[in-house]
Amino acid sequence: MRCMNGLALLEGRQEPIREKQYYHIGKEEKAAVLRVMESKSLSGFLGRAGERFLGGEYVRRVEDDFEMYFGVKHAVAFNSATTALQAAVAAVGVGPGDEVITSPFTMSATASCILLNNAIPVFADIEPDTYCLDPKSIAERITARTKAILVVNLFGGPANFEPILDIARRYNLRIIEDNAQSPGAKYRGRYTGTIGDIGVFSLNVHKIIHCGEGGILLTGNKEYAFRAQLVRNHGEAVIDDLENQGIWEPVVGSNYRLGELPAAIAAEQLKKLRNLLESRIKNVHYVQERMKEFQWIIPYDEKPHTKNVYYVYPFRFLSERIGITRSTFVKAITAEGFPVQEGYQKPLYLFPLYQRKQSMHYAKGMCPVAERMYENELVFTTIFQPPNGSSEIDAFIKGLKKIEDNSDALRRYEESKKG
Ligand SMILES: *Cc1c(COP(=O)(O)O)cnc(C)c1O
Repeated sequence: MRCMNGLALLEGRQEPIREKQYYHIGKEEKAAVLRVMESKSLSGFLGRAGERFLGGEYVRRVEDDFEMYFGVKHAVAFNSATTALQAAVAAVGVGPGDEVITSPFTMSATASCILLNNAIPVFADIEPDTYCLDPKSIAERITARTKAILVVNLFGGPANFEPILDIARRYNLRIIEDNAQSPGAKYRGRYTGTIGDIGVFSLNVHKIIHCGEGGILLTGNKEYAFRAQLVRNHGEAVIDDLENQGIWEPVVGSNYRLGELPAAIAAEQLKKLRNLLESRIKNVHYVQERMKEFQWIIPYDEKPHTKNVYYVYPFRFLSERIGITRSTFVKAITAEGFPVQEGYQKPLYLFPLYQRKQSMHYAKGMCPVAERMYENELVFTTIFQPPNGSSEIDAFIKGLKKIEDNSDALRRYEESKKG
């Protein structure tokens, strides 16, 4: 029997996905690239003490721009946020055997940067509304070896900083922010990425602003900035010849240097950040308002003292209120042509890398909220991303309504798949 409800999934159709190419690289970036080409210097770095230890003109310029924009004393540019995070962990003095508490509900680099410093990632659970670290769970994980908390500002939104800062003060812990997804977000008027001791931003192509690959480390602490510079550029070979010799602990450096071309692109992208965020946020607030009509959806709970820049728009799907599984819902809404995904990230401690470490105890069940979000509740969409606007969002809401109206047919479809 042909279905009369018009649901693409049940009719075996796939509508084209309503996701316009989100690629805001324009003539300004192109002109910047040409300026660098004409300068004939594609990297200004040299792995030696002296002027060129800190890189070329465009690297220094984009560092100055980030310092100005975010009101922070020191910016250090890297070739990715992943390498910047590794340097951040080293810079605050985390070493072999030290413990760093972090979220398991994040991109893998958030925790691998701890392992790469021979330190131990300790996973605390997340809150079901911010999807970021739960302060209560952090407090339960503190031991005599805890050195730092690596906070992730996930999906463009700030973590619950006030209680986290209290814990850090009480136990004398450093705070590193993985702010890869949240450039321009705020918590009580302060930019995320500038609240902890160090904040790391990503300039990877998938992020809100980008230069292909790149990362920026921000800190108000001169010593941390210097140690990050040493990690970035062969620090062990340079330290003897630098003025501050003897003051610093030895640092093993690498080559995490950013080239001049991506640095010049990044500077142009930063100029566009404010406007980009404005149109994203306007769209999200419209989606958010309209999602309230569905009993089976819990929209993102934006707190009054925060500004969220929405890397993606997360919401919770309550299966028992609509009577279909999350995966059927995602299949059905995707078939209608809307960019929707489920789960986000398997809690990191369930990766083989952690499960096979005999000396540590990374057991299923240790962060139940993160597991529940991954397995059952979390859904996210990018339908709000400009140049999409209210007409795409209205269509998305209509798609949700169509699924709600046809939940019985979808339930029968699920049962037929089972049988
Ligand atoms: C993208 C991302 C990173 C890594 O950024 P790269 O610049 O690609 O290395 C780290 N943490 C989070 C939360 C991210 O989303």
